Amino acid sequence: MASSHTVLMRLVASAYSIAQKAGTIVRRVIAEGDLGIVEKTCATDLQTKADRLAQMSICSSLARKFPKLTIIGEEDLPFEEVDQELIEDGQWEEILQQTCPSQYSAIKEEDLVVWVDPLDGTKEYTEGLLDNVTVLIGIAYEGKAIAGVINQPYYNYQAGPDAVLGRTIWGVLGLGAFGFQLKEVPAGKHIITTTRSHNNKLVTDCVTAMNPDDVLRVGGAGNKIIQLIEGKASAYVFASPGCKKWDTCAPEVILHAVGGKLTDIHGNALQYNKEVKHMNSAGVLATLRNYDYYASRVPESVKNALVP
Ligand code: AMP
Ligand code: MG
Ligand code: MG
Repeated sequence: MASSHTVLMRLVASAYSIAQKAGTIVRRVIAEGDLGIVEKTCATDLQTKADRLAQMSICSSLARKFPKLTIIGEEDLPFEEVDQELIEDGQWEEILQQTCPSQYSAIKEEDLVVWVDPLDGTKEYTEGLLDNVTVLIGIAYEGKAIAGVINQPYYNYQAGPDAVLGRTIWGVLGLGAFGFQLKEVPAGKHIITTTRSHNNKLVTDCVTAMNPDDVLRVGGAGNKIIQLIEGKASAYVFASPGCKKWDTCAPEVILHAVGGKLTDIHGNALQYNKEVKHMNSAGVLATLRNYDYYASRVPESVKNALVP
């Protein structure tokens, strides 16, 4: 029987359940104690057993249900033959009950590109900074990020044994973003969040030029966008290559759905069509409010060093 729900809303509802399952995998790998760490390009570019299992789970689960999707995952792994135990078939009912924004109601499965970061903040995961970690599933149409899901497996992990561990945030442009309480940094405060593990002179020059009241150094692109929407930071500044399309796709949607803005360091929108290069070569600048304040303070020397 044909479903009465649109492809986009079915995909977001499935991505929600699939991201939750990936979050349980991320917790299980830590509980079992063997992280299976592999260096990819260098000592700060790591992959663990959790990155591998979560990616296989997410990509296989999506591909089984939506065989015509283009799925691009961070890890270079096959996802045809995976253990049935890794497959998630559920869909989050609350999402199916929402109305699809009319501009997306006719979208076909083959028109969508899904960008998957199975574990964002791997370096911090290996160091026990567990609330820095997120699972990111971003959905793009005609090159634009339009829907996304972020699971934070260790949300609340320092809040005591009775606290509910983990949460899932989701959003669709034109509908909104859900699963958190929107909060703003007090007016007039400039708090910058930036990389903890991938710092360099360009990043420091750019942050310093913004004359911040405070600088937070934390892991993960997903985590930093959560800081923006929960009033912990006013700008996410990363004036460096290194961050990829799977890092920014889902977080960008959540931020845009609540009126924020994410661009490269020159102010250009990021593109998410399947042919695009993966690297965000010209860095990331994101804010919930007052984007122009930060954009106007990016030094010319930093802009000249970062070619889109
Ligand atoms: P960070 O803010 O350092 O946590 O970076 C955000 C995302 O971009 C993470 O997924 C990082 O792994 C990735 N990233 C940033 N810079 C680099 C780099 N120099 N090499 C590899 N990955 C990077
Ligand atoms: Mg990442
Ligand atoms: Mg990752």
